[in-house]
Amino acid sequence: MADDIINMLIVGSGPAGCTAAIYGARANLSPVLIEGSQPGGQLTTTPEIGNWPGAFANPSGYDLMETLKKHATMLGTKFLSDRVVSASLAGEVKELTLGSGEVLRARTVVIATGASARYLGLEGERTYMGHGVSACATCDGFFFRKKEVAVVGGGAAAFTEAIFLASLCSKVYLIHRRDGFRAEAVQVDRLRALEQEGKAEFVLNARVTDLRGDGTKLTSVVVEQGGKEREIPLAGVFMAIGHVPQTEVFKGGIETDAEGYIVVGKGRATATSVPGVFAAGDCADRTYRQAITSAGSGCQAALDVEHYLNG
Ligand code: FAD
Ligand code: NAP
Repeated sequence: MADDIINMLIVGSGPAGCTAAIYGARANLSPVLIEGSQPGGQLTTTPEIGNWPGAFANPSGYDLMETLKKHATMLGTKFLSDRVVSASLAGEVKELTLGSGEVLRARTVVIATGASARYLGLEGERTYMGHGVSACATCDGFFFRKKEVAVVGGGAAAFTEAIFLASLCSKVYLIHRRDGFRAEAVQVDRLRALEQEGKAEFVLNARVTDLRGDGTKLTSVVVEQGGKEREIPLAGVFMAIGHVPQTEVFKGGIETDAEGYIVVGKGRATATSVPGVFAAGDCADRTYRQAITSAGSGCQAALDVEHYLNG
């Protein structure tokens, strides 16, 4: 095959993609990694990581991902600042087209495109996106200092965001559709303690029905709670209602489930329905969705690539 064919092409720069690159580089596979529009992935949106083994100083997600990128680069991975817009995966040589128009040819592809924030689908989200509506407290929390805000959701992300925002804002409402949480107990306890201090308020068994504003910025959130409507005046709302896999660009070329997660485990842990194409991290994991499990499957993907290339 021609020399311009990449041995190992990785799509995504989150924990899965960077770990695949580290292992691939150490196996002399000369990996090329396409970073996508969110260099470093989802973790870069969180102020503190408390569960990455060994990182007991609780680094920010941004700092942690910088070290992973540095490690992969140091070993020889080539990072490309672009994103994949279309892919032809069938056949021995895969062709991936980038936003710049460049077409990359590769013997193997590791898809590590993770997931992106889910929204409620309300009109107000579109109207006030970036003007009161956000899905990233680390990125946008600063704009709401000393103001009242809400976080929607009951998972780990919602609690992480709410606890962070409570340190910046005058008050944080945690709006959740039921009264049980997916978040860890330790996080729930921390927010309950902030509620005692008047810094937070739980709004439970509540459904957000409307986001209202003055035409330029958000001014309130309307919830339906126990058959009654309640309007909460506030300056910002942070959606933390989970994520959807970013696999649209590969749709049709590879087997996905009904929600778009890539189906893996075809013989090897990260093998997909297409020979030579592997998937790692949140784009193929509807269950665990942790930084460390994504990194672990990135490692598996690199080992699977090596196994595939060695016949
Ligand atoms: P991601 O991190 O989602 O990265 C996906 C990558 O793919 C990105 O670089 C993106 O740019 C790229 N990409 C997407 N589409 C394309 C394309 N078409 N072309 C090229 N590139 C593309 N987990 C923990 O274990 N501990 C925590 O404390 C923690 N905190 C979190 C806090 C928040 C607010 C959020 C949202 C998540 C948190 N998580 C945490 C979960 C963790 O971030 C994810 O499980 C992990 O980042 C998934 O890694 P990944 O590599 O699979 O994908
Ligand atoms: P998640 O665990 O899937 O939680 C999503 C939350 O949003 C759930 O409480 C869900 O309600 C709610 N929700 C979903 N759709 C909704 C809708 N249409 N309307 C209203 N509410 C809706 O997602 P996540 O919090 O983003 O976490 C994703 C993964 O990342 C998890 O595996 C998590 O452990 C990990 N993570 C870890 C940390 C950490 O370790 N500190 C931090 C952040 C994320 P129900 O509960 O009723 O379904």
